[in-house]
Amino acid sequence: MSSFFKSFAGNPREAAAMAMVQSSSYRVLSGRNCSNIRRTTPLDSFLAKGRSPVKAFSFLYVSRYSTQPNNEFGHSSKRRSRGPVMAAKKAADGEKQEDGKYKHTVDLPKTGFGMRANSLTREPELQKLWEENQVFKRVSDNNKGGSFILHDGPPYANGDLHMGHALNKILKDIINRYKLLQNYKVQYIPGWDCHGLPIELKVLQSLDQEVRKELTPLKLRAKAAKFAKATVKTQMESFKRFGVWADWNNPYLTLDPEYEAAQIEVFGQMALQGYIYRGRKPVHWSPSSRTALAEAELEYPEGHVSRSIYAIFKLVGGAKTSLLDEFIPNICLAVWTTTPWTIPANAAVAVNAKLQYSVVEVHSSPEDESASTGKKKKMPGKVLKTQQNLCVIVATDLVPALEAKWGVKLIIRKTFLGNFTEEAGQFRGLSVLGDGNSAVVSYLDENMSLVMEESYAHKYPYDWRTKKPTIFRATEQWFASVEGFRKATMDAINDVKWIPHQAVNRISAMTSSRSDWCISRQRTWGVPIPVFYHVETKEPLMNEETVEHGSDAWWYMSVEDLLPEKYRDKAADYEKGTDTMDVWFDSGSSWAGVLGKREGLTFPADVYLEGTDQHRGWFQSSLLTSIATKGKAPYSAVITHGFVLDEKGMKMSKSLGNVVDPRLVIEGGKNSKDAPAYGADVMRLWVSSVDYAGDVLIGPQILRQMSDIYRKLRGTLRYLLGNLHDWRVDNAVPYQDLPIIDQHALFQLENVVKNIQECYENYQFFKIFQIIQRFTIVDLSNFYFDIAKDRLYTGGTSSFTRRSCQTVLSTHLLSILRVIAPIVPHLAEDVWQNLPFEYKNEDGSAAKFVFELKWPLLNEQWLSFPAEDVLFWERLLELRTEVNKVLELARNGKLIGSSLEAKVYLHTANVSMAPRLLEMCEAQNEADTLQRIFLTSQVEVLSSMETEMVSSVQHTGEYVEGENKVWIGVSRAEGSKCERCWNYSGQVGSFSEHPTLCGRCFNVIVANPPEPVAAAVIN
Ligand SMILES: [Zn+2]
Repeated sequence: MSSFFKSFAGNPREAAAMAMVQSSSYRVLSGRNCSNIRRTTPLDSFLAKGRSPVKAFSFLYVSRYSTQPNNEFGHSSKRRSRGPVMAAKKAADGEKQEDGKYKHTVDLPKTGFGMRANSLTREPELQKLWEENQVFKRVSDNNKGGSFILHDGPPYANGDLHMGHALNKILKDIINRYKLLQNYKVQYIPGWDCHGLPIELKVLQSLDQEVRKELTPLKLRAKAAKFAKATVKTQMESFKRFGVWADWNNPYLTLDPEYEAAQIEVFGQMALQGYIYRGRKPVHWSPSSRTALAEAELEYPEGHVSRSIYAIFKLVGGAKTSLLDEFIPNICLAVWTTTPWTIPANAAVAVNAKLQYSVVEVHSSPEDESASTGKKKKMPGKVLKTQQNLCVIVATDLVPALEAKWGVKLIIRKTFLGNFTEEAGQFRGLSVLGDGNSAVVSYLDENMSLVMEESYAHKYPYDWRTKKPTIFRATEQWFASVEGFRKATMDAINDVKWIPHQAVNRISAMTSSRSDWCISRQRTWGVPIPVFYHVETKEPLMNEETVEHGSDAWWYMSVEDLLPEKYRDKAADYEKGTDTMDVWFDSGSSWAGVLGKREGLTFPADVYLEGTDQHRGWFQSSLLTSIATKGKAPYSAVITHGFVLDEKGMKMSKSLGNVVDPRLVIEGGKNSKDAPAYGADVMRLWVSSVDYAGDVLIGPQILRQMSDIYRKLRGTLRYLLGNLHDWRVDNAVPYQDLPIIDQHALFQLENVVKNIQECYENYQFFKIFQIIQRFTIVDLSNFYFDIAKDRLYTGGTSSFTRRSCQTVLSTHLLSILRVIAPIVPHLAEDVWQNLPFEYKNEDGSAAKFVFELKWPLLNEQWLSFPAEDVLFWERLLELRTEVNKVLELARNGKLIGSSLEAKVYLHTANVSMAPRLLEMCEAQNEADTLQRIFLTSQVEVLSSMETEMVSSVQHTGEYVEGENKVWIGVSRAEGSKCERCWNYSGQVGSFSEHPTLCGRCFNVIVANPPEPVAAAVIN
């Protein structure tokens, strides 16, 4: 094995692949449109060929390639040139020495940074490295900027993570990591919502009947806490594997005693300010969960059908006016309801003083009415069929359309527990939504009080957990009076920055219309409402002193022990309340439990970031508690994201089989072909790629695309690393000495960094993704990187031309790394750990890890590239594209193989363009010459088309540039091929010691005699 390959971490296969890269980049990848030849990254292009690139380009092929340079793989016409690489390869494969005479003078890329991410092992390694070195904490502590607090919305500690969690936490991590680079002290405390019914039910379901009978509230609470903590642990491990940085050792759990204390403090403050009251009001009651529910715990599924009835109440007299006397006893008041079961408790019929009512006589024709109309089931009552001279009172406006709404309010009298209570008389014990409803309807009909029954489809509130219908029920509950601080809340909403901006309408509408917040729940697994009730009067006792106890204590301590000193002697008169708080009160107090308690955190938080459903959930509950007690919003900005759907925009569900599991995305599935292990960075790249303001899509196809883009990005970085293997920062060429092409490259880079920074500041990551993709994968590879190879490999190791190029490349590497690091931190760190040179921050500190770097400062000098030159370079790149088209024609016509075998002729009448092109043929810096930019051996700019030569050129093309035509011709290059660089030159043959070299190569060899081979290959 030659020493060349030893430099590749002892892996000959990789070495072969690496070496191939140089040549393959000069091949046209597809015959489709060859004008824009290099679409893919040079280092990566071979990978696009198949799943097993290394195999496809085995050693065997490489050696054959080198001996038959014009006929590799049978499609030599598509191949451009790569002399030095081939020469090196030949020597490596033991070809005759003379063939590879100059191979050791060629500077090929070298790096230990592999093309394959190997994320299954590499990402955990890097994560361990960060953890062991406490990189997040150290960087944050050392940062000199202000603090940045993104306050985590607590996911529910129940079940496995789904893609929605991944989207949410990775978005947060991207923001936090960007702020770290921006020199902020970033503290991110992850949280979990641990109380509530789902966990309580899960625990109950896991117990058998016998154990359940023995269950005390304390035992149930202990089991629920254990379950929640175990879930927190598993979810935390997954979040860590996503590469999310957080203070994992100190998360906040809503079951922590300190947290509960802060929550009760918020409750107490609200109570003292008079915002908490006990009221008997209709609330949403879930018979299936046996508790009151808040608005945020309801959902309104499609297709709910209620039994609606039109019923009548007989007027029996007593009216003060004689207005209706003539109709009595045959006059009724008609009502319409979708809840017939409420009739037994009905105490009155309300009428609207502002409406006009009419007495209408009913002339019924039962045969006609019994007909079922379409989908709606209609059942006229007996009264319609039998009773004559029936008069009902209805609102005049409704006479033409009885099905339209009635201005009726029902005042419900008594409570029942999902079933009718004793007070319901003959209906007691019946389920209100089942038999009870039917019994009432029948009863009304028997008593000639039913006009009609009709099934009625409408929006109806369901319990979001049990997926069963709720009912309205008047009960004694604890409420937070939103009315008391609604105006302050609306004002605060306008001071918050909502991203996307339309979200302000959503939160405003929801807050302005919401009724008082029912905060009590009749469950065990939660924070108890600290209230005592007088045994006889049921009067609640709650004041500053009573609101002071931990959660479990409430359950195990006696009333006497719980009561404050001054009430102790009356302990026998009181009992403890058994209600717990709405879990939205738990999480809605997190600003107090976390921002208000942890050291280094600030109130309000800079950002809250959650899904759009939190406008009626956490964003709102946090806002309400904070406004009520602090008078201001707990956040300065709120970012919302949509839901994750499958590739077709369908909701993910197990039954559809379209669920994308974040764990499988990272670790791969059973079948690695269908479900490869993509690693966290590919998933993170996906997060950056979606416009999260709306719903986002993911599926196997999208993941494959992401993986492809990731590989290309990795290839770009590998190119940079490989070509900087001998770089030292003090090799840098001063800006003013750089060739124009290099100054232009820095100008473009700086604009890209500037744009990306703006996008980060506006949280528009999908734009960053697009910029990175276009710049690093398409633009750089197609142009700068492509033509840079010539001077990098053959310009001479320490030559000005190579050093100036490396100056540009090192700047690109350092900038690209930093701008992508928040999105793909593992990739960035992996590159950083393979950095071949030492780099120090502006303040002189060494950066051991990539996040110890700071965001690149914008360089005004680079940005000041003159506007007219920017324009000229745009036109030059367009010209290059057109030249490539003609070169392709020549290649197809077998005139040339490699573009280095070509000479290009140009003519344009454009007075601003022509002189500059002419100038560039003889540019002072070789890198700026047109032939290097076109990757041809010669370029000649013709001052006139009136020469014989024009007609002798075989392949020509023309395009319109502004108001002028530009003419392009391609003929074979003049002179002979230089053995070392494969450029054609008339000078080849003129140096007696080196008869096969061109002038440039001769100078390189003579001026910089090659170092001993052994030294040249040390990695
Ligand atoms: Zn040469």
